[in-house]
Amino acid sequence: MKYIKQMFELQQKLNDTTNGLIWTEGATKEGRQISWLRCIYMEAAEAIDSFNWKHWKNIEGEHDLDNAKVELVDIWHFIMSEAIHFGDTQFSEIYECITPKRKINPEMVVEILEKIVALSATANIDKSQNRLYEITALFFKALAMMSMDVPELYRRYVVKNQLNTFRQNHGYKDGTYIKIWDAVEDNVIAFNIMEEHPTFTPDQLYKKLEKEYTYISS
Ligand code: MG
Ligand code: MG
Repeated sequence: MKYIKQMFELQQKLNDTTNGLIWTEGATKEGRQISWLRCIYMEAAEAIDSFNWKHWKNIEGEHDLDNAKVELVDIWHFIMSEAIHFGDTQFSEIYECITPKRKINPEMVVEILEKIVALSATANIDKSQNRLYEITALFFKALAMMSMDVPELYRRYVVKNQLNTFRQNHGYKDGTYIKIWDAVEDNVIAFNIMEEHPTFTPDQLYKKLEKEYTYISS
C-alpha cells in the first residue's frame, strides 16, 4: 500500500470539508487567512514540550513520548496541507520506506524539531522562501528518531483523521458530541481499534466507531 499517497487524499478531503474548496488559495470559506507554516511551528513547539526539557522543573520526570508522537502526527497534517497548497504532493513519497531507529533519541528529536521551528517561522516572514522540502526532510528524520515508520504514521494519522470527521458528523460543532465513551476518551478508543485491526481501511475504522458510538449514546 502507498501510505503517503493515501494520507494526502484524506488530508485533502478533511481540508475541503473543514475550510471549503477555496482553502487551496490560502484562505478559508469564512475568509480567514491560512498559515500552514505557522501551524507547523506551533505543533513542533508542542512536540518539544512533550519532552522533559525544563532545567528548573520536575527535572527527574519522564518524557511524554506518546504525546510527542501525537504532535508529530499533527505536524504531518500541516506539512501535507502546505504541500497541497504549494502544489507538490509527490516529493514526499521518497520517504515511504524510512528506517526507524531502534532506540528513541530524545535529544536528537528535540534538536530536529527546533530546526523545523526555525525554518517554518522564517519562511513565514520571508515569503519568497518556501522551506517545505527541507521541513519535510527534517520531519521524516524526527520520525525515524522516534522509532516510527510510515505504516505507524499512517495508523496514527488515520485515527485522528477519521475521528475528526466522525466528531464533525456527530454534533461536535453544536456541543452534543460525547467525547468520553464509557470512561474512555474517544481518541484512545479509536487508537485501540486500529491497534487491534492494523489492516483496517479508514472506512472500516469509521464504521466500527459508528457501531461503538451507537452503543454508548443510546
Ligand atoms: Mg497538544
Ligand atoms: Mg498538537
